Amino acid sequence: MANVNRSLPMWPAIVHAKCPRCRRGDMFETPMYSFKSQVMKKTCDHCGLTYEREPGYFYVAMLLSYAMFVAEMITMAVAIHTLSGSNNPWVYVIIIIVLGIILAPFNFRYSRVMLLHWLTPGLHYNAELSSDKPQ
Ligand SMILES: [Zn+2]
Repeated sequence: MANVNRSLPMWPAIVHAKCPRCRRGDMFETPMYSFKSQVMKKTCDHCGLTYEREPGYFYVAMLLSYAMFVAEMITMAVAIHTLSGSNNPWVYVIIIIVLGIILAPFNFRYSRVMLLHWLTPGLHYNAELSSDKPQ
């Protein structure tokens, strides 16, 4: 049977943290929530893409993670105010800190995924590399 090139959709690749170039290989070795810390693979198992484009490349992801946390914090503050109407600042502080800790692995993972999928110049999806046999 011929090896048919098929184009893989973007959103499932982003949600499942797949390689931005082939959308087949996993970017992380560990699940998002586990007792082990998250470990990112050095290269894609399917197409061989090196994820860290240059030394210190993921510092940008750290800034993205910070922006995500600020957006989540503002959303939480508005939601707390809307739902509870509380004026006690400790309610806000405690809920935001707890949610910040819970969402930290999410922010870590998806800041790197967003950086590689959307913000890296010259890195685009290549449908030929999505085929079953990498070249
Ligand atoms: Zn790949």
